[in-house]
Amino acid sequence: MSYYLKKNWKLIFWPCFLGLMAQSAYVIIQLMMMQSFQAAFELDLSGFIQWTSACIGGYIAYFGLAAIAGALEANAKRKLNNQVRHDLYLTLLQKKHPEYHSQDNGVYISWLTTNIKQIDSLGWTSFFSIFNQLIMIICCVAALLSLDWVMLAFGLVSAAIMLSVPKLFTKQMEKLGQTCANAEAQGLSHIKDILSGFDVLRAFGRTNRFINEGDSASDEMEKACCKLKTSQGFITCGVGVISVCLQFLQQIVTVFLAIQGRIIIGAISSASNLTAGITNGLSSVANSRISIAAAKPYFENITVHAEDVLPPKDLTAETSCNTISMENVSFFYDDKQVLDNQSFIFEKGGKYALTGPSGCGKSTVLKLLLGWLPKYQGFIHFDGKNASDFTPEQLLQQMSYIEQDVYLFNTTIRDNITLGIDFSDEMLKRAIKDSSLDGDLANMPLGLDTPVGENGSNLSGGQKQRVAIARALIHNRSILLVDEGTSALDQKNADIVEQSLLDNPNLTLILVSHHLTQKRKAQFTKVYELKPITVSPENVSKQEAVSVF
Ligand code: ADP
Ligand code: MG
Repeated sequence: MSYYLKKNWKLIFWPCFLGLMAQSAYVIIQLMMMQSFQAAFELDLSGFIQWTSACIGGYIAYFGLAAIAGALEANAKRKLNNQVRHDLYLTLLQKKHPEYHSQDNGVYISWLTTNIKQIDSLGWTSFFSIFNQLIMIICCVAALLSLDWVMLAFGLVSAAIMLSVPKLFTKQMEKLGQTCANAEAQGLSHIKDILSGFDVLRAFGRTNRFINEGDSASDEMEKACCKLKTSQGFITCGVGVISVCLQFLQQIVTVFLAIQGRIIIGAISSASNLTAGITNGLSSVANSRISIAAAKPYFENITVHAEDVLPPKDLTAETSCNTISMENVSFFYDDKQVLDNQSFIFEKGGKYALTGPSGCGKSTVLKLLLGWLPKYQGFIHFDGKNASDFTPEQLLQQMSYIEQDVYLFNTTIRDNITLGIDFSDEMLKRAIKDSSLDGDLANMPLGLDTPVGENGSNLSGGQKQRVAIARALIHNRSILLVDEGTSALDQKNADIVEQSLLDNPNLTLILVSHHLTQKRKAQFTKVYELKPITVSPENVSKQEAVSVF
């Protein structure tokens, strides 16, 4: 938190400065009110009217300054929250593929939504409150000192007591804040899951499950946060009681001093307000410090700050390497072996097919090439250089990947193909033709500007795949990995798309498919047929990729 406050000191300066003016105005009003009461005691009507008018003017100025300070504070918080979100996006971008997918998207959504709300209310609001209250305390102390040093001495004793109380609770609040943040992330992830499966649950008549799981996710989040709020409430109550006791003691001291003639009688009225300014200010500072402690865990997800990394840049296609070789590669998901001592060679411009029954590791081979699964045994070389010497980003500069489950953004077909890059009309036309999307577009009144809906819900499975193929082709990477990318297409369209990929002489194609005809297989440079790992009685696994052409 202090990182953001230091970095944005200019942004924070103005609301703090206006806050300082408002608090000072409040204390000056209290001093003027003393004079007003004193004039009343002395039956000095004109003095009373003068001081009272000054007080009214002072209050108008105080509220005006407070309103401007509030508006500037809101603006500063907006910018601070945006910076935290920006750093969270950068943190996510820095994560390697397995690390990113080790958490559910719901967890990330909670980082970017509920966590930011907590940072706003527990962090920034408390910071501004502490600043304003400290100014108020300082001004009140100065005002009381101008009346009598005994008043100040009492103020300092109060300060010492009020500031030491919250220290007792800081650790406990940090822990509760962490539990609350975790519960919110888990709950949101749960809610995201049932919302994504809404249609499935309804189709199978399991609306009860939707409600029950929604309720339990809701309570998961509420329970942890309720504990945090309950503890906060009890601590606030305890701190408040101590604050009120100190206030009454201060009142007794003031009256005693007035009786002794050390301060004016009119001071009695405002001295209580000034004392309240100190004690309430201190209890507010104490509570805000507790809130800041609870906000701390929310910042711990941020591991990267904007100024520590170069601004992310979009990757452009690079000339591809000539040979990709996988030698004696074995791979395990946890304890489960998927590839055993497999070797493949992919030459520039060659057309390769990976076939085999479901679960034999075809997609895993593509993910290894993409650098998403760094923990493998054996060797993967790009032009003789070890794949682990490249970052996944460097590998992706050469490769396009069409996944089995296509993801489309909730925008237009055009945006889903170009991903916001300004490709020429000619390139766009070519990609649309080679992906067989032209027939679909001809039947859509809005053509390329047709909205696709949430994850392409307005399109058929085949249309979604064609959009994904057009997206991969237009980005013009020289190696194309296709994971069952034509499985949702009817035979005719699958043939057209596969043929256009096979006819492209510059493209290195690695296509995963389990429905290749003999005629089609003959068109590939090489067809690798993967076999599932068989476990022999001696518990020895064996797998070989057979080249059939
Ligand atoms: P294919 O594409 O040939 O159908 P995959 O490469 O997707 O097969 O998967 C091979 C095996 O690895 C399957 O048994 C699958 O269940 C398992 N598998 C795939 N991904 C994971 C994962 N992330 N964690 C654990 N097991 C996985
Ligand atoms: Mg697969």
